[in-house]
Amino acid sequence: MAADRIARLNIDLHCHSTVSDGTLAPQELIERAHRNGVELLALTDHDELGGLAAATARAAALGLPFVCGVEVSVTWGGETIHIVGLKVDPANAELVRGLASTREGRDGRAREIAAQLEAVGIPEAYEGALKYVGNPQLVSRSHFARYIVETGKCANVSAVFTRYLIEGKPGYVAHRWAQLSDAVRWIVQAGGLAVMAHPGRYRLSDQTRDQLIREFVDAGGRGIEVISGSHAPGMERDYLAVAQRFGLLASRGSDFHGPNESRHDLGAVGRLPGGVLPVWHDWPEVQCLVQ
Ligand code: AMP
Ligand code: MN
Ligand code: MN
Ligand code: MN
Repeated sequence: MAADRIARLNIDLHCHSTVSDGTLAPQELIERAHRNGVELLALTDHDELGGLAAATARAAALGLPFVCGVEVSVTWGGETIHIVGLKVDPANAELVRGLASTREGRDGRAREIAAQLEAVGIPEAYEGALKYVGNPQLVSRSHFARYIVETGKCANVSAVFTRYLIEGKPGYVAHRWAQLSDAVRWIVQAGGLAVMAHPGRYRLSDQTRDQLIREFVDAGGRGIEVISGSHAPGMERDYLAVAQRFGLLASRGSDFHGPNESRHDLGAVGRLPGGVLPVWHDWPEVQCLVQ
């Protein structure tokens, strides 16, 4: 049956390039997705649209179905929440402006992170992180993590986060990102679908998480990642139930950042389960894949 085939497609709607904190250029990401057998890809850089033109062109040349995306950083109830926008118009002025304002504080924050790291014996971390940055407007904790691995203080990026970069650790700097309702509005008025990214990563009680999702839906949010490379095994059951309870469309994404860093390669996560509508169920790009 076509609906079942649509749900089981190898569609990856979440990944990062060097325009944010990924390690592959947009073109290389497209080539890798194509090699991996991904049937449709979205590039979703953090707070940035700058990789979409190159990705769109390379995808067209290879015949890989592609949609434009973004992952917006949001602060809600003191927590950082990520909202993915799919099928956004990268030329939309309000979206472009909103993302520029969201990026604005990053450089100052990076300098503060570096000062705090210096106090615990890691000097010149700002300059060190910059060596890994592909876009000066998008210095992220991932770039610091790569530099700290280079210094030999930690064996891998994930160990750096645990030791230095998460809340309560010496290199953590609290930051205010966009508001939830603004992020959803920017996406929707740019023609996109707003999707709650990796819901299993937020440290929220079930009750607070439900409140977050209710506010997200009230703001115009339409989907949730049921399958995410950032989730622990087994979480898809929980978020399938959440999607059903809130009437949300289900999304799937690897959250791939690079070959040496990510547990899950492009397209290499579980398929969407039955019992929920895929976010791509009515996309024209998908109809030709199942004919
Ligand atoms: P930033 O937007 O600068 O706060 O950086 C957030 C990024 O750091 C996320 O998008 C992930 O790529 C990465 N990240 C966050 N937490 C972890 C973690 N525990 N282990 C590895 N990477 C992480
Ligand atoms: Mn990231
Ligand atoms: Mn994220
Ligand atoms: Mn991501």
